[in-house]
Parts: sequence; C-alpha cells; structure tokens
Amino acid sequence: MQGDLLKPQHRCALRFNSGMTRLPSPEILISEVGPRDGLQSVKTTMPTADKLRWIDALAAAGLREIEVASFVPAQLLPQMADAAQVVQHALRHSGVRVMALVPNLRGAQAALQAGAQKLTLPVSASHAHSMANVRKTPEAMVEEVRAVLRLRDEIAPGVPVEVGMSTAFGCTLQGPVPEGDVLLLAAQLAQAGVDEIGLSDTTGMGNPAQVARLFKALFSEVGALTGAAHMHNTRGLGLANCLAAYEAGVRTFDSSLGGLGGCPYAPGASGNVVTEDLVFMFEAMGVSTGVDMNRLMAAREPLQAGLPGEPLYGMTPEAGLPKGWPGR
Ligand code: ZN
Repeated sequence: MQGDLLKPQHRCALRFNSGMTRLPSPEILISEVGPRDGLQSVKTTMPTADKLRWIDALAAAGLREIEVASFVPAQLLPQMADAAQVVQHALRHSGVRVMALVPNLRGAQAALQAGAQKLTLPVSASHAHSMANVRKTPEAMVEEVRAVLRLRDEIAPGVPVEVGMSTAFGCTLQGPVPEGDVLLLAAQLAQAGVDEIGLSDTTGMGNPAQVARLFKALFSEVGALTGAAHMHNTRGLGLANCLAAYEAGVRTFDSSLGGLGGCPYAPGASGNVVTEDLVFMFEAMGVSTGVDMNRLMAAREPLQAGLPGEPLYGMTPEAGLPKGWPGR
C-alpha cells in the first residue's frame, strides 16, 4: 500500500510550504487510554482532582476519544474507585467521546449509568491470559459480551460496544497465539453483534509483518467492524507496528500520554505506545490526527503533577518539536 504513504507526504509538504491555514478533517482517530490503561498499571492512585485536570488538558489538545476509567470493584483496583465521577466530569467536553472499560455485565451497568458514551471489553485470545485477567475462558467472555449487548440495547441503545482482543499477537503465559484462534474469536464476536473489534499487543510480542497480516485477515473476516490497533512498546516496536496497522487499513490507534501503563497480568510487559510520538509520526507524514502537538505536550504537566516521581516516556517530548513545525 505504498500509495497510501506517498499521498499524505505530499499533502504534508503543501501544508508546510504554502502556509495553508485550512487543515483537513482528521483522517485517523487517536484513542487516548492513559487515564484508564495507564493509571490502572501504576501503583499510586492519582487524586481525582488531578485526573480531571489531566483529562481537561487531553481534551484541550484535541483528542476526540478518551478511555477515562475502568468499572471494576474498588477493592481490586483502588486507582479506579472514582470511575463514575471521572466519566461524569469528562462528559462536559462535547468534542470527546467518553469511553470506559468494563470487564463484565456489572461493570457495564455501572458505566452506562454513569453516562459512558462507548464501552470497551477485553477478551483475550489466549486462554491462559483470559483466566489470569478476568478468571473466565474466552468462550465465557463471548457470552458476557452478549449479555452486555443485551443490556446496552435495553438501557442505552446507540452506545457502541467495542472488544479489544488482548494477547492477539502472543502471550507471555501461553506463548504464541495461533492467528486462527484470533480470527475465530473475532467471527464469534461479530456474530454476537459488537460494534468494533480491535487487536491488542498486550505483551509487546508483535512485529510489523505480523500486525499487517493479522489486521488484513481481520478486515477479510469482519470488514468494517475492524477497530483499533492497541500496540505496546515493550520491545521498541510500538510505532512500527502502528504504521504497519495503518498501511493495512486501520484508522484508530490506542496510545497513552507519556507511555503510561502496561498490563499487570502480563509479566514484563510495559509501555503503551506514547501518544506524543504517535501523533508526531502521523502528523509529520501528513496524516491528520486533529491533535495539537503543543497542547498535547502541555498535557504532560497535569499528568506529572498527579503522579510525582512516576517516569514518563516519549522521544518527541525529549527532543522537542522540529524547527518549522506549525505553532512553533
Ligand atoms: Zn495497553
């Protein structure tokens, strides 16, 4: 799909050289998962007021979808005890779709009652990861998804339900995950009626060739239901994998500001793709994200203030924006 790469580069040159002020509408969606995936993985609980300030800064940067919380019992994840309050606050940003992770029907009920505008459920392709993460088999999770969809239809029709398929590219516990298992599960989820199916490299084992192959196969299996690429930077391949997914046709990408987060049940796996680097890559290619780089960098301040001492990652924030970058 080389043509896809060349066209945006050409547009980028135009935008830089002619001083065009009218930017195209965003071509891809960056789904910021830091307030959920990131905060869930750090030991410290960020005070609610800091979370809200951080979410406000993310919205101000132009992010149009933010996964703001996880609806799980507070005794399991005290970091998410304020989930309903955080959702309700985030709803004031009309340009943002407020998303919540729910592991089961009970979580879905609480999230929908709080006003979440999109739900995401984790379903593991790996049996071992599924048991460790949600104590259910993948088959039992498909049943749980069906129950969530019934509830959605009943009390909040129109709220999209996404499944992020964990360990789609390999599992620390099980080892390789057969691509056939991923596609079979995707077909079952499509049949159940989910709105989107994304693939997650939960353990950072994926490589660009595999990512391109599996997403192309997913498009063949479920067509337009193909959802987000959720890549991890565990072995430094996060951006390369996102680019491979883009070339395969994916248009939604999960990432977290400062690379916060990983998976507590996947030993050794850490580091979501860094939003700052991801936005930089696409914008530099001329693929519009709708995100303002300068404001995005500024959103690191409330994050760091809420989690003092927590390491933040990102090559772009360290190097700064290059000379000639808009707004610089
Ligand atoms: Zn992640």
